[in-house]
Amino acid sequence: MRIDIITIFPEMFEGPFTESIIKRAVNKGIAQLHLHNLRDFSTDKNKKVDDYAFSGGAGMVMMIEPIDRCISVLKSERSYDEVIYMSPDGELLTQTICNNLSLHQNLIILCGHYKGIDERIREHLITKEISIGDYVLSGGELGAAVLTDSIIRLIPGVLNDETSALSDSFQSGLVSPPVYTRPRKYKNWSVPDILISGDERKINDWKLDQAISRTKERRPGMMDSGKNIQE
Ligand code: SAH
Repeated sequence: MRIDIITIFPEMFEGPFTESIIKRAVNKGIAQLHLHNLRDFSTDKNKKVDDYAFSGGAGMVMMIEPIDRCISVLKSERSYDEVIYMSPDGELLTQTICNNLSLHQNLIILCGHYKGIDERIREHLITKEISIGDYVLSGGELGAAVLTDSIIRLIPGVLNDETSALSDSFQSGLVSPPVYTRPRKYKNWSVPDILISGDERKINDWKLDQAISRTKERRPGMMDSGKNIQE
């Protein structure tokens, strides 16, 4: 999969994209991540990419032209499955969206800043708008990093144990059961006996019970939505 990210702060991706799972995916050649500095597509001598909002009011707006030029160049090189704009009023990011996007070949992610981008870009160039939550960030970069991470880890071959992504929270409509590691006893805190019993069937039943009760407690809406495998 190839993801092209359009941003005015490409350096913001250095940490998230050069460590851990994403780094491994890139090194294995499974993911190709390309950062495009929007200022490189500005024809202005000061590399300006924002301007005052019509109607006044506080805050600058990202201009159409540099964004259109950047997207046009990318589209002239290959076809894209989605041109995504990170936006607080976009579709709330869920595991289902991540699963669907992970099946694509080429994605563009546009990061906004200031008051956002000129609405005409959203009308004419954007095919999908994604929010990472009902709160406002200063820019789309952190959201784009979250989105990229959540997609890339789902591509077969990225995680060591390919089944591990399938047993994560939300994949079966349930959150994950609790997990433990050694030591078996720390201070007075012990591991549930069942997990050391060696009885695989009982352990699996216990994990499922835990996942169901946790989901009811922490994400009751998920149980009501009927998305989980129990119904
Ligand atoms: N004026 C806008 C907020 C702009 S915030 C409004 O009130 O809706 C600047 C940029 O940060 C946005 O263009 C968007 O790209 C990004 N952003 C902010 N919050 C976000 C969120 N919750 N999810 C994804 N992107 C977000």
